[in-house]
Amino acid sequence: MDLELSPEQIEFQKSFQAFCEREIAPRAETIEQEGMDRNTLKRLGDSGYLGLLHSPEYGGQGASYLTTVLAQSILSYHCGSTFFSSGASAGLFGLPIAHYGSEEQKREYLPSIVTGQTIGCLAITESGSGSDVASVKTTFRPDPSGGYRLGGSKSYITNAPMADLALVLARYSDKTIESGKAAGDKTGSPTGLTLLIVDLNSTGVQRGAPLKKMGLRGSPTGELFFDDVHIPANAILGRPGAGFKQTMKAFDAERLSMGAYCVGVMEACLEESKTFARSRKSFGRVIGKHQSVAFMLADIKMRLEASRLLLLESAWLFDQADRASRLQHNGSLIEISARASELKLMASQYARECTNLAVQIHGGAGYMDEYKVSRLYRDIKIAEIGGGTSEIQKQIIARAEGKRKKAGAA
Ligand SMILES: Cc1cc2nc3c(=O)[nH]c(=O)nc-3n(C[C@H](O)[C@H](O)[C@H](O)COP(=O)(O)OP(=O)(O)OC[C@H]3O[C@@H](n4cnc5c(N)ncnc54)[C@H](O)[C@@H]3O)c2cc1C
Repeated sequence: MDLELSPEQIEFQKSFQAFCEREIAPRAETIEQEGMDRNTLKRLGDSGYLGLLHSPEYGGQGASYLTTVLAQSILSYHCGSTFFSSGASAGLFGLPIAHYGSEEQKREYLPSIVTGQTIGCLAITESGSGSDVASVKTTFRPDPSGGYRLGGSKSYITNAPMADLALVLARYSDKTIESGKAAGDKTGSPTGLTLLIVDLNSTGVQRGAPLKKMGLRGSPTGELFFDDVHIPANAILGRPGAGFKQTMKAFDAERLSMGAYCVGVMEACLEESKTFARSRKSFGRVIGKHQSVAFMLADIKMRLEASRLLLLESAWLFDQADRASRLQHNGSLIEISARASELKLMASQYARECTNLAVQIHGGAGYMDEYKVSRLYRDIKIAEIGGGTSEIQKQIIARAEGKRKKAGAA
């Protein structure tokens, strides 16, 4: 395993760091107060960030996961809301299209997602269905005049208030697909779930008002309502009935990027806390000289370094696996899904602990909006919930580990 960054990766890191300091950091507070604007996403498109994991054929950079997580950590260091809204568009919406879309779908949707002209979202969660993805109630059925009709609703969807397009997970109401016998459905999915590309400006689509949230206040989250919405025949992603597996694959990449988000947040905690500890004085000396404050800095640093190592190795494994579900590494079978879960579980817990330590080091100032650590503290809780809760990550890890042991014993 070689985690040495290439000169190009180091150069890219430097230039993207400079871009974020120039374009994102000065806007982070405005985004927090006023919400995400399209121009910020277009600037990220111009910088190449939105296209990192997309093929040059559709305007992307064709970058590795390793390069991508480095950039994701830099962006989340500066602004969590921008990280989440851009990730929901180029990642959650864009990557399943890149991986499973027809040539026609890739040409139609990816170039404008990569430039930030179009904003996408991934709509899985419903009011009665979050962790239990397979229980979604939104349905689609054939429209006698061609295409399909979609009915149902989605909730807690990042970008819903501003997105142009959504990938919507829905259940086909035709029994042949529900039992996994749909034409072309070689996976035989028991759930019959399908991802549909939906134009959110279609007749019958309604959006709820942006939801008021604990954190990530600049990244709009909301509901989507589908009232007998006409969907063209070519809106199905891949094949009918493959939506559950496609969604699980999308979650793997989301969990890797959540690890990158956590590392960026921990880096920000460390820098903000060091700066504060060097200038704030109590009992005649700077607070960094008090052992308990110095130890809190050490606790942040340890969590950051452990998470960064697991992040870089995980991104490297994603690159080696090249979209396969598992690979052999150092004599062990690595399940990519389980590895992504391990990373997310550890980094999200550590990052939450680091934001708590950072606020503590700041004392009363850390409770004030004017200090960045206050925003980091409110934002970070999403990492233990979004993209699958920590409890769901533990299930995935335990299930994979159980299977691995059995295979070894056999
Ligand atoms: C800011 C934000 C942005 C989001 N963006 C999106 C988005 O873009 N697209 C999207 O589709 N969704 C999105 N979500 C939804 C998110 O993915 C879900 O909130 C998450 O998956 C958890 O689902 P839930 O809220 O229904 O919780 P529930 O599933 O109701 O879980 C509640 C609690 O029960 C536990 N639990 C549930 N089942 C089990 C079990 N089998 N074993 C052990 N414990 C269990 C959970 O771990 C949790 O502690 C977003 C959420 C937030 C807060």
